[in-house]
Amino acid sequence: MTRETPPRPFRSRRSRVAAAAALTSIAIAAATLSQPSPGVAGAPAPVAFRPQLVTVSTYDAADKALVQSLGLDLTEHAGHDYVEVVLHTPAELDLLKTTGLSFDVRIPDLAARETQRRTIDAAYAASVAASPLPSGRTGYRTLEDYNADMVELAKNKTLVKRFALPRKSLDGRTIYGVEIGRNIHKRDRGRPTFLLMGLHHAREWPSGELAMEFAIDLVKSFGKDKRITRLLRKARVIVVPVVNVDGFELSRSDGELSDLNGLNEADPTGGTGSVLLTPGRTYMRKNCRLIDGQDTPDGTCESVLASPGGYGAGVDLNRNYGGFWGGPGASATPADPTYRGAAAFSEPEIQNIADIVRQRQVTMVISNHTFSNLILRPNGVNPQTIGSDGLPVGDAPDEEGLKALGAKMAAQNGYANIHGWQLYDTTGTTEDYTYNATGGYGYTFEIGPNEFHPPFPQVVDEYLGAGAYAGKGNRAAYLLALAHASDKRFSGVLRGKAPKRATLRLTKSFSSPTWAGSFQDGVSSVLKVGRTGRFSWTVNPSTRPAVRSRTYQVLDSNPFFSKSAEGTTPGLTEHSDTEFVVGEPVALMRIELDWALPDDLDLEVYKRTADGLTEVASSGNAPPDKEMAEVTNAEAGTYVLRVINYSSVSPTYTLSTALFRASVVSTPDARERYTLTCEVGGKVLQRRSIFIDRGQVKNLNLKKCIRRAAR
Ligand SMILES: [Zn+2]
Repeated sequence: MTRETPPRPFRSRRSRVAAAAALTSIAIAAATLSQPSPGVAGAPAPVAFRPQLVTVSTYDAADKALVQSLGLDLTEHAGHDYVEVVLHTPAELDLLKTTGLSFDVRIPDLAARETQRRTIDAAYAASVAASPLPSGRTGYRTLEDYNADMVELAKNKTLVKRFALPRKSLDGRTIYGVEIGRNIHKRDRGRPTFLLMGLHHAREWPSGELAMEFAIDLVKSFGKDKRITRLLRKARVIVVPVVNVDGFELSRSDGELSDLNGLNEADPTGGTGSVLLTPGRTYMRKNCRLIDGQDTPDGTCESVLASPGGYGAGVDLNRNYGGFWGGPGASATPADPTYRGAAAFSEPEIQNIADIVRQRQVTMVISNHTFSNLILRPNGVNPQTIGSDGLPVGDAPDEEGLKALGAKMAAQNGYANIHGWQLYDTTGTTEDYTYNATGGYGYTFEIGPNEFHPPFPQVVDEYLGAGAYAGKGNRAAYLLALAHASDKRFSGVLRGKAPKRATLRLTKSFSSPTWAGSFQDGVSSVLKVGRTGRFSWTVNPSTRPAVRSRTYQVLDSNPFFSKSAEGTTPGLTEHSDTEFVVGEPVALMRIELDWALPDDLDLEVYKRTADGLTEVASSGNAPPDKEMAEVTNAEAGTYVLRVINYSSVSPTYTLSTALFRASVVSTPDARERYTLTCEVGGKVLQRRSIFIDRGQVKNLNLKKCIRRAAR
């Protein structure tokens, strides 16, 4: 018997794709073998529903809102004319069909894909002794693996402190994190914090992997890599790889089940197999809140299977934060995949993270998710949306800076650098809260091109970079984030002299808006002064973005230019193009298409670029509705207005184009101050009110505190 040479480690993205394709045939063969034999002889085997990933065409914002309103399980993969959705049950497929929206099935059987992934991962693990990841891992961690890795890391007493977050999960699990920095167990030297998280959403396994790998990377590289050594002297990193421990445990352990297709076959209506399990709870998203306001006995979540695809129950942890809580893009319905919870911060997992942000000077936040290759920045809702104060939400006050840092990070991983709302509207997300409450920059990374948890070699690529991004990847993006955390141009520095070994405490209480109300909040962090009495403390600006001046556009009610022209309807399924030149950038270009009969023409709008035509807007209503497409902030240039005959016998149509200007309006600016107390022996010896801006250095000689301490 001859032994086959094991495949060599994959090198480029291209070769990995090829290898994955080769392995697919093995996976399919394996899946075929595992099918149960048909039951009664002669009776046709029932066709079981397969949980699937579908791409739904959404021609405008209204279509997208329609898909959102169905309560379907939206993925974080969407573009201006599509959104991807997981269908868990036949009922959901029927519901989607009732909308009349067209859709393509991208992964027809997620259970089979799960089997395939396991086969690919096993082959990868067998083909390499170790992956090039800092840990050398060749497959996804379990929750136990994460906890063990953090225990292992904490053996490095110079660099790592492992800690339990204050609140247990609903199923009674302790949630751990690691804090990394030079001399981490010694006195706090006023260093700022970069907070990196994974797995708010249970099924998004790479989001935890990349956070954990970065932690291991930092510890392994300290003392060897100059840049990392320097960065860990200036800042600390807190990594919470698994925020949603209960959800992840269920998703990850069910991902190992192999007989789910069999279960589906047993119940073709989608009962045991696909209603309760999709496949298993591998595609679960939320946490284990089964009943609002109640903490069910530990282990209940694991034993309760009566939730469609495991996503029916639970709170969407990335809609439960206080910032804008309760607004668009988050559901008030408990069974909905984006259920926001009974109140802002109702969930222990989110209280845990908020505590870190309130008690540390967290100057940089990245919350990892999958998938879509995106770097998302605040705000989560379209700037024209009317907010709780009755005015448009506008852009974040630090839009320029947030965008610039996003672009630097995107140059490492090749992701699109966009606003959160450009994916779709969301409220109550991590950076909606952290940024607006503290001013520390915050981002969501949507890791990977096309799956919640792809074959593991893709995780390696996403961390280290592949193809044009080889040697960069998310590793390099995180390092930029860490450098940003201690970049004094973006934070403030309080420095000066205090009594030796005094405690300095920086606090601020405030009320922050949710979408329709408010919540009481505050920050309170502590610095222990050393033997010399000198201190230097890197802090966030004292004024929250939530109260700073923000700008928004107010559109003129009438266009400054408009034009209407009649055209001859093209033949069935054909199109006719009209060019339209926009001479100067305009706030809004609106194109309306009208025709006589209640039949169907569609409209697409393209911008002419050096590479050809790029679609910028479209409208594809069903009869009898006519078409309207809008391009906001339209650049100058040549546009192509395409009229498509879907099923119209109207001889002519009318195409109207209108251009609008807008004025830029600013809301009033407010200033907020911290309270700084200087304490010795538990007594407050001095209290000062401090205003500090981004980039500002404040010298504080706490003379009164020094004098009183000396008495
Ligand atoms: Zn997510």
